[in-house]
Amino acid sequence: MKVDWLIVGAGFTGSVLAERLASQLQKKVLIVEQRNHIAGNAYDYYDQYGVLVHKYGPHIFHTNMKLVWKYLSQFTDWYHYHHQVLGVVDGKQIPIPFNLNSLYALFPTPYADKLAKKLVENYGFNVKIPILKIKETAKSNDLKFLANYIYENVFHNYTLKQWNLKPEELAPFVTARVPVYISRDNRYFQDPYQGLPQLGYTHLFQRLLNHRNIKLMLNTSYQEVMADIQYEKMVFTGPIDEFFQHQYGKLPYRSLDFKFFHTKQDYKQTVATINYPNDYDYTRITEFKYLTGQQTIGSSYIEEYPQIHEYGKNTPYYPIPKEEHRILYKKYATEAEKLNERVLFAGRLADYQYYNMDQAVARALNLFEKISAM
Ligand SMILES: Cc1cc2nc3c(=O)[nH]c(=O)nc-3n(C[C@H](O)[C@H](O)[C@H](O)COP(=O)(O)OP(=O)(O)OC[C@H]3O[C@@H](n4cnc5c(N)ncnc54)[C@H](O)[C@@H]3O)c2cc1C
Repeated sequence: MKVDWLIVGAGFTGSVLAERLASQLQKKVLIVEQRNHIAGNAYDYYDQYGVLVHKYGPHIFHTNMKLVWKYLSQFTDWYHYHHQVLGVVDGKQIPIPFNLNSLYALFPTPYADKLAKKLVENYGFNVKIPILKIKETAKSNDLKFLANYIYENVFHNYTLKQWNLKPEELAPFVTARVPVYISRDNRYFQDPYQGLPQLGYTHLFQRLLNHRNIKLMLNTSYQEVMADIQYEKMVFTGPIDEFFQHQYGKLPYRSLDFKFFHTKQDYKQTVATINYPNDYDYTRITEFKYLTGQQTIGSSYIEEYPQIHEYGKNTPYYPIPKEEHRILYKKYATEAEKLNERVLFAGRLADYQYYNMDQAVARALNLFEKISAM
């Protein structure tokens, strides 16, 4: 088979690039995907109870990039949803990220008043502060107590469960992703554009890839077909270390095991996601119909169990953000450069970087701009 572009991986990165190359540059594109479906980790499907569920964990789309939102909106309408998360701390369900409402849920009102006043005086209102920063900078005994309380009860055990590392052993941006939010806003994200594709992610991908210049091979690892395909250029969105046969060693990932359940109750929880920082082996439970707005009898939900990643045994989900891993990744990136742009690497596995979906789309759109200018 002869094509202009071979794309490995049908997730957001590969599929957006395929769509752009096919529709804007009239290139013939072949996508090779090792799984039996498109949409990468955003894949969703209807379970046996008719509930739309996310196979690889709950995916909520949110972005402050208008360009990305506008681009995807060509292929989907949106169910406008603002995510809410509660965390179980000291037997109470409190808003996550920790905010002023969390204070009042945990402490008697006069003490919560005092702590709230001190937080606002020291850091301002409507601001997000990483917990490690509050821990470092808290001066009064009350704020020191609060910083330690939040750290111990919300972050410490959750991070240990999720990463098998303490918060301070990870790159600081990891805990900063869920900052303390000095606000009364219980939404998990504040981005101007938030929602889920009205008919689901898989449907959105079907529309992205529905172009006469795009061919798709599922259940196929690129290694199996390389010898039979002639291509001008390749985009690789799989693991960069695998591409180079792990010649410098394996890049470490964290994996997850997902357990799906169904209840006959209309709803199991009061919000979409409940985090369990201190109890159970799972980190959180998410109930899908909150995310999608689907009206169903009964409700399907998912528990997430963090795991060590074992190559070939389970799926690499989260790159482990430590300096030594960055250095290892750089060795592979240097090898990638030697291929002189005949093979381009992009996406969360090829860049060895955690991307939200909007960042993966932005990465693909930016790469397309570069390709167009070549
Ligand atoms: C549990 C979890 C929850 C998440 N929740 C959110 C969220 O709420 N909001 C958000 O914005 N983002 C979320 N994300 C991030 C989101 O999944 C990523 O942004 C997105 O998947 C990145 O797309 P990608 O195309 O780079 O990678 P992927 O979606 O992983 O696509 C890469 C594809 O390449 C294929 N592939 C790999 N190797 C080969 C090979 N050798 N041959 C052929 N094919 C191959 C893979 O099978 C895969 O389908 C979450 C991630 C996880 C793990």
